[in-house]
Amino acid sequence: MTQLDPSILLVDDSAVNLEILKEALARYNTITASNGDEAMEIAFSREKPDLILLDIVMPGMNGYEVCRILKNNDLSKDIPIIFITGQNDSESILKGFEAGAIDYITKPFNIMELKARVKTQLSIKMARDQNQRLIQKIRTVNKKLTDSIEYAQKIQNASLPHEDFLNKIMPEHFIMLRPRDIVSGDFYWVEETNNKLIIVAADCTGHGVPGAFMSMYGVAYLHEIVGKNGITQPAEIINKLRRIVIESLKQEEGSEVKDGMDISIISIDKTNKVIEFAGAFNDLLLVRNKEMQIFQADHMPVSIGESDKPYTNHTIPYQDNDCVYLYSDGYPSQFGGPNDKKLMQKGFRNLLLDNHQYPMPQQGDIFNKFFDMWKGINDQIDDVLVMGIRM
Ligand SMILES: [Mg+2]
Repeated sequence: MTQLDPSILLVDDSAVNLEILKEALARYNTITASNGDEAMEIAFSREKPDLILLDIVMPGMNGYEVCRILKNNDLSKDIPIIFITGQNDSESILKGFEAGAIDYITKPFNIMELKARVKTQLSIKMARDQNQRLIQKIRTVNKKLTDSIEYAQKIQNASLPHEDFLNKIMPEHFIMLRPRDIVSGDFYWVEETNNKLIIVAADCTGHGVPGAFMSMYGVAYLHEIVGKNGITQPAEIINKLRRIVIESLKQEEGSEVKDGMDISIISIDKTNKVIEFAGAFNDLLLVRNKEMQIFQADHMPVSIGESDKPYTNHTIPYQDNDCVYLYSDGYPSQFGGPNDKKLMQKGFRNLLLDNHQYPMPQQGDIFNKFFDMWKGINDQIDDVLVMGIRM
């Protein structure tokens, strides 16, 4: 017999009964105990049995009491107990089940029945143990992955503009960034260069780890294009960004890999009170006195696509107190609400119109709270990014 054979603890005050049971269950590893105290000592030990056959009528503690104690102890509560009873009236049997037993065998033993019941309970126990081991394994793997992604989140957060810097250059603003899976494919980027304030809201293909990888590319490329080369015209930034994405990801016409990003970029010229805007799929919204103007983005991805035409550069004179919003598709695409539907652009824009008069930080709170309310018990389906700036 090997260590892997299931072991059964036989508890009976009758030496004859123990002999019969031992012989009937000779194919298993059996251990015997002649009273409750001995039984408990074995059940609490490191080498605890996989199954217990427990006599009810014994001197000292009876089987019901032993059963209750074993079931209330963390060390032994998982060991299935079959009780052995000479009384096969319903009341005695029910009492055994109430004490926590899983099955019963009546005396005198029918050996075939005994073997069958033991076999069934052992296979259930073995399957349950196997499940426990698998669950433990999954937990360990899951923890490893989550720890790793949470560390990646720290790196990603460090790539985002610092809060102090944002407050200095955009006195009234809010940013709502809610990744779906710890790390995010949505990101924002801000830079002040050549008297222009460049603000970027981007949504990389996918979410989670692949999205986050792409976002790190995005941040690096924007540093290159705007920070190093000093390009401030939004359309020109996206033209360049598209070329670099295609080149560095080796995208070719008809190739499978079309990863890239949707993006909206504004460049604010405070001296002349002009906003320039260009976008790939993501529009710009401007709200002035309860009226919304929508500046449409081009429907060309920042990746290999059907067209390589230049992006459109919009020039928008602004007034003090205008509210501008940049956002990814995550918020309007979220399922929820009374009919479990997407909020849609219309719902999202109405929300902005209804609340644009509030100070920006307060709007941020409102949009966060509304999102939670709308989502309800649904899962978040995409990364969410909304940026609001009051001019
Ligand atoms: Mg998205």
